[in-house]
Amino acid sequence: MSPPALCLEKIERRYDQAGSPLEILRGADFCLWAGQSVALVAPSGAGKSTLLHIAGLLEPPDAGEVFIAGDATVRMADDQRTALRRGEIGFVYQFHHLLPEFSARENIMLPQMIAGLSRREAADRAGQLLDYLGLSERGNHRPSELSGGEQQRVAIARAVANGPGILLADEPTGNLDPKTASHVFEALDAIVRATGLAALIATHNMELAGQMDRRVTLHEGLVVELA
Ligand code: ADP
Repeated sequence: MSPPALCLEKIERRYDQAGSPLEILRGADFCLWAGQSVALVAPSGAGKSTLLHIAGLLEPPDAGEVFIAGDATVRMADDQRTALRRGEIGFVYQFHHLLPEFSARENIMLPQMIAGLSRREAADRAGQLLDYLGLSERGNHRPSELSGGEQQRVAIARAVANGPGILLADEPTGNLDPKTASHVFEALDAIVRATGLAALIATHNMELAGQMDRRVTLHEGLVVELA
């Protein structure tokens, strides 16, 4: 059996606030398998972004280990960890962070070209993703010419353009009205089903969380499974 796409083991993270340590994660354990979507639901300030940053190899934990597809990452050389992050992990944020001067299609092509694909290969895959997300008519538009929901769908396409094993999303529908949020969520879910990637999605939206395979929360610095 293949290892989980992502495993967090006894993760600790604390911040210094005015000299006194603020314990955010206190030995958190969590595993995520391919083809699974998991909602991370917890109040503001509980540590969701911190957990996603550590899972996404953007910041190191103070203690514990992060396994990506079975590989321990904490003691990896920086360039090896960066390469693993670029290849294996896609991110979606609350705000799309698309490059304003490029079209939707070019925004999806760029990470592929940085990874070494030719312009033609990148354009083909961008076209497929745009079709898949119902955006084939919007490929030549710049982000400012797209609706909020369309921008987020392009951001999702960009995040999965290099075929990562893991998608991490921090409140990806937090800035959208409920109907648009549910469209964007459907797009995300369809991508998870079609590609078999593993998704961890921080959200305040309980209705959307209810449609995912699992729900977890953060309680006293630990990841706790919800019913
Ligand atoms: P959430 O995403 O659940 O809102 P965060 O992970 O952003 O929570 O933050 C958890 C707690 O850690 C908050 O109280 C926040 O103020 C604090 N925090 C986050 N980043 C830092 C930092 N770089 N320095 C100090 N405190 C931080």
